Amino acid sequence: MKKLLIANFKMNENPSETKLYFTKFVAGFSGERADVIICPSYVSLPLASFLTANSAVKLGAQNVSDEDAGAFTGEVSAKMLKSVGAEYVIVGHSERRNKFKESDKLINKKIKTSLKAGLKCILCVGEGALDKNVGKSQEVIRKQLEEGLRGLYENELESVVIAYEPTWAIGTGNNASVKEVEQAAKVIRKVVYENFSEKASRDIQVIYGGSLNERNAPALLNTPGIDGGLFGGISLDYSAFLNIANSIK
Ligand code: PEP
Repeated sequence: MKKLLIANFKMNENPSETKLYFTKFVAGFSGERADVIICPSYVSLPLASFLTANSAVKLGAQNVSDEDAGAFTGEVSAKMLKSVGAEYVIVGHSERRNKFKESDKLINKKIKTSLKAGLKCILCVGEGALDKNVGKSQEVIRKQLEEGLRGLYENELESVVIAYEPTWAIGTGNNASVKEVEQAAKVIRKVVYENFSEKASRDIQVIYGGSLNERNAPALLNTPGIDGGLFGGISLDYSAFLNIANSIK
């Protein structure tokens, strides 16, 4: 099976920069070794959708409202995201959990609203440095998963990707080790097994994110139990991300 590679631009790249990026990426992406989802800013999604039409590159959003529509100034609904070409949405990113104080309950509602609108979800889970230091990594991952996936039907997990993103590894240059990633993937699949089924625990896509780069991606993405990666900083360098996407095994 091909690896799943997801790019999270965060609050970077304006529409004209996005245009340049997508034009070059789409022209160079072979699609033979990896499935690629790029998540630019909301304001670049319509343009990115135009530029990726008839290509193998898929689009995702970085956030979504938990509400369907209405008086929620500044929010963007799942239906709106679908209408401008997004197929996926990142939910529960640690920056939203920590900087915007998003709770597991809100994240769960965002997932349900998104799935209902036909968007697939990339649910990020992962412990912080403090949790790691006191040996609570597994406990944190379990809680975020159980609360994030609460009330979902098993067949809905086909539209959910779990990203293991330890907060201490994001944007720090301090990636998790293969052993740590393997352990986290085991915990994630165990929680899915206990809350859904053996089949679901086998089939669900689990990816790793946190300071991935051209050097460490091959080993980390080939960790047992890992189906791909979520790339932040390095994904802004189109040639580095393209190189990873065209060469990963
Ligand atoms: C992220 O923000 O999801 C991420 C993985 O960032 P970075 O690759 O920069 O650590």
